[in-house]
Amino acid sequence: MIYFDNSATTRPYDEVVELIARLMLEEFGNSSSLHNLGIRAERILEDSREKLAQTIKAGPEEIIFTSGGTESINMALRGSAEILKRSGNHILTSPVEHSASLESLKDLERQGFEVEYLKVDKYGRVSLDHLKAKLRKDTILVNIMAVNNELGTIEPVIEASHIIKSNNKSTVFHVDAVQAYGKLPINTRDLLADYISFSAHKIHGPKGVGMLYMRKGNRLHPIIFGGGHEGKLRSGTMNIPSIAGFCLAAEKKIDRMKEDQKKSKIIREILIKELEKSPEINMHINSPKDGIENIINISFEKMRSETMLHFLEIEEIYVSSGSACHSKRNTTSHVLTEVGLPARFAQSAIRFSFGSFNTEEEAEKVAKAIKRVLQV
Ligand code: PLP
Repeated sequence: MIYFDNSATTRPYDEVVELIARLMLEEFGNSSSLHNLGIRAERILEDSREKLAQTIKAGPEEIIFTSGGTESINMALRGSAEILKRSGNHILTSPVEHSASLESLKDLERQGFEVEYLKVDKYGRVSLDHLKAKLRKDTILVNIMAVNNELGTIEPVIEASHIIKSNNKSTVFHVDAVQAYGKLPINTRDLLADYISFSAHKIHGPKGVGMLYMRKGNRLHPIIFGGGHEGKLRSGTMNIPSIAGFCLAAEKKIDRMKEDQKKSKIIREILIKELEKSPEINMHINSPKDGIENIINISFEKMRSETMLHFLEIEEIYVSSGSACHSKRNTTSHVLTEVGLPARFAQSAIRFSFGSFNTEEEAEKVAKAIKRVLQV
């Protein structure tokens, strides 16, 4: 099996699975319980919070655990808009965001907020000049992702954060860092965001767990009510084994980040070089050259994405025909449409994404398989 779909999700590290299994059996206490088992669970929770906060140079009090990227994003956008509506109505976003952001913003639009979309270039890179021009006195919220999940484009979020904050300190900035964490250094001292969303399953951690960074001094209206966990911001019994698994995966991934990205770059180069040896393939690279190393999006004009995906699947090669959430709907990806890719390229786009377990030999095998499928 060759798994080149790591931006959809990753195989957890063995040590992460072992830790989660052990904690589920031995440390099943509720971190809110007053007895010894509860106190032990709480210690694991707070230790994980401390370590995860350190990975982004944040304080433990700035970390809220959630069920993943989608919930973190919903919480940041909807939860802050509810508080900020007293100061204004205007929201700015890039149009190439994940649906977790776009759908949350559409819901805010239905509630009466004015949402404007920033201009992007042919790789989905947001225009900072347009951002400068669009910021208004009543702009309460700006939303830009750190790395695009379909093209691998690295967005200028640090520069954007400085522009936003020098224009108006009270404009809140949310960054979706789901595809950036563990691949790029993220540091809350350089990136002046108020909220940053993270997910465990993209970095060889478990599914169903993530975190939201909330800069000290900010306020959120909860979107989930109950027993008052996580400083009353996100109720629900804490998923201690998965949180500890998330923490271990993050530490491992960040520890090997440079090495993994270097390997991904070589895998990407081999894949392109091998494919380019047969010009009759007629391929078109949709990702920018300076994009994140572990994602490459290529169109094979001669075959629709779904057909290619299924042919490769027969050879036990797993790729994506866009972002995972699009692949089940028979529509063209909004990202590829937004960047102005002609329909024939958008409908034949394949995303290859690499992780810790991939090897250089796999790139050669995948290139050969594609040539077989295209009969060149
Ligand atoms: N944001 C981006 C950029 C993503 O790629 C994804 C997952 O595909 C998400 C958010 C959603 O994260 P989760 O699957 O943890 O809900």
